[in-house]
Amino acid sequence: LFITLEGGEGAGKSTQVARLKALIETRGHKCIATREPGGAPGAEMIRKLLVEGPAERWDGVTEALLHFAARREHLRTTVLPAIGQGTWVVSDRFADSTMAYQGYGHGIDRAMLGTLYDVAVGDFRPDLTLILDLPVETGLQRAASRRGTETRYESLPREFHERVRKGFLDIAEADPARCAVIDATAGIDDIARAIEAALDKHLGA
Ligand code: C5P
Repeated sequence: LFITLEGGEGAGKSTQVARLKALIETRGHKCIATREPGGAPGAEMIRKLLVEGPAERWDGVTEALLHFAARREHLRTTVLPAIGQGTWVVSDRFADSTMAYQGYGHGIDRAMLGTLYDVAVGDFRPDLTLILDLPVETGLQRAASRRGTETRYESLPREFHERVRKGFLDIAEADPARCAVIDATAGIDDIARAIEAALDKHLGA
């Protein structure tokens, strides 16, 4: 199974990725945790290009192209080989982040992003996407209080992050069979329980 976690800044994705991997392993499945942008040596090199340096270095289309280049490399060298061996894959972000950040946030043409998805990824889709949703204010506060991991994106205006949040919610609404919205204002254990419930629902348990 390929499971992706999505959400805005400070939603707690990385904590929940680790928790979900542990849960899947206690159920007897092999599982790897990975992330985007990155998750493979070449993709981590592209991540550096994206997250280091001034925010205005790339225009929006170039930024989207770099995300899809990293994604293709991540799929080819990490995700697809694991899935092929029956290993479950949990990814901190995937293509919905590009649609939400570059599409909704930066206003890059969404149909073009869909075309880039077809080129870079093809027919492959996550089996389950967990969208960790919380108010922008809360997320930015959480992100600011975490040590040493702030990125240039957090300094973008609040309205940008509001558009990103709406993007994720629109994506969830358009594809309810794949996506579950999780209330990320709750505590870590409650969020983990909600994720477990969404997984069990997906598995038909
Ligand atoms: O998830 P993580 O915080 O590691 O992501 C790194 C940064 O890249 C985030 O601040 C996020 O806002 C940004 N990002 C982006 N467009 C994407 C994916 C991530 O701007 N498609």
